[in-house]
Amino acid sequence: MIKRKVVLRFPASVVEHPFISTLAKEYNIVASILKANINPRKEGNMVVELTAEDIDYEKGMDFLQTRGVLVQPLEQQIIWLEDRCTQCGACTVICPTNALWMKRPEMTVSFCSEKCVVCERCLKGCPARAVEALYLSGE
Ligand code: SF4
Ligand code: SF4
Repeated sequence: MIKRKVVLRFPASVVEHPFISTLAKEYNIVASILKANINPRKEGNMVVELTAEDIDYEKGMDFLQTRGVLVQPLEQQIIWLEDRCTQCGACTVICPTNALWMKRPEMTVSFCSEKCVVCERCLKGCPARAVEALYLSGE
């Protein structure tokens, strides 16, 4: 089973094709749309999480590419916005890797991006919205 976040870039000529439903019906690929920027007759893009069996995934990606859709891998990073952080400490309890941690004895919250495994728990758990996800597409 493959679960992968990708950016789909659609040329204007095909942007109105229902690719997501075709992936579901023809290739058994479940697509969760994370972001979409689609307008009639203009180039569009979509950030999606795709889940499928390996063989179906490969066939679905081949289908997209034959239709001119560019599929780019997506990397996600977590950004800690220190100036928004109220130092409540909630994230330090739920972070599984101590990427967000309480510095002692100062009792101030710190963030170590190298320890972050992008599980997104802190995104949901931060009452001050001081943690954000940054999407980077490569290739
Ligand atoms: S995304 Fe997960 S691992 Fe990264 S800082 Fe947030 S809770 Fe910790
Ligand atoms: S949950 Fe949010 S506001 Fe609270 S310490 Fe963590 S980042 Fe700061």
